[in-house]
Amino acid sequence: MIHQDLQTALNKQINQEFSAAYHYLGMATHFEEQNLDGFANWMLLQFAEEQSHGMRLLRYLQDRGGRVQLAAIESPKCDFQNPLEVFKTSLKQEQSNTEAINNLYELATNLNDHATKSHLQWFLDEQVEEEKSVEDIIALLERIGDDTAGLLYLNDKLGERTAGGSGADQA
Ligand code: MG
Repeated sequence: MIHQDLQTALNKQINQEFSAAYHYLGMATHFEEQNLDGFANWMLLQFAEEQSHGMRLLRYLQDRGGRVQLAAIESPKCDFQNPLEVFKTSLKQEQSNTEAINNLYELATNLNDHATKSHLQWFLDEQVEEEKSVEDIIALLERIGDDTAGLLYLNDKLGERTAGGSGADQA
């Protein structure tokens, strides 16, 4: 049986992953409205990834005999000035998620729950990847500035992303 504090924290993290998914969906709809289908594709894959993270934690909590409690998810922001603002928002979201996973890992450590630590290891590695891919796209967008041709080139590149790839290294 999993410790009560860890159950509470895991439920909070499940909510955070699904909330991140919903925010990425909001960003995808924003890009669809702007006819930037490559950017939208990239965001839709993020949406799917975050849902899979939520499910991974949910199943783990169930496997440990814990009780899943699904909390409400707030509305995502869907209006942005430009692609750079979207990706900066995304980076903040990923950084706060990294912090949450770190806190969860620390709690599992303090409670001597080695199985949870082992499960969270994958998430720690994943966050390094997530932050890097968003940072890479921010760097490209900063170089592109107001250049429409550059933006459309990046849109094409992000449109090539498929499930399992970050897309940033293809950009
Ligand atoms: Mg995640």
